[in-house]
Amino acid sequence: MSDSNDTIFGKIIRKEIPADIVYEDNLALAFRDVNPQAPVHILVIPKQPIAKLADAESKDHALLGHLLLTVKRVAEQEGLTNGYRVVINTGEDGGQTVYHMHLHLMGGRSMSWPPG
Ligand code: 5GP
Repeated sequence: MSDSNDTIFGKIIRKEIPADIVYEDNLALAFRDVNPQAPVHILVIPKQPIAKLADAESKDHALLGHLLLTVKRVAEQEGLTNGYRVVINTGEDGGQTVYHMHLHLMGGRSMSWPPG
């Protein structure tokens, strides 16, 4: 997909469809996953359309750092003092299903390793 604003996440950014938004600033949006895999499961996305991590470029370095710091901020907001997991599924083998880059923040239970 060439324009990731065409994804369901683009519609969420533009407020065309509802989402349980927990954080928003000029660069990023965070909202609860519709199919949570943990008691807390939040997606942090850039407002700028980057389809997948593999498409990020050097000029995106500040944005990528901002997304990680947003995950940290939202984790604190959610009270995840005992830790949490951050996942970026990238491309087909990575299990990515929505081609607007996103960070999964999952917490509220103990995680196992390796993932499936
Ligand atoms: P991926 O598999 O691409 O890493 O993750 C996509 C995630 O988006 C999945 O966890 C899925 O549950 C979530 N998702 C898909 N459609 C929607 C939606 O319309 N609203 C919300 N809040 N989450 C969605």
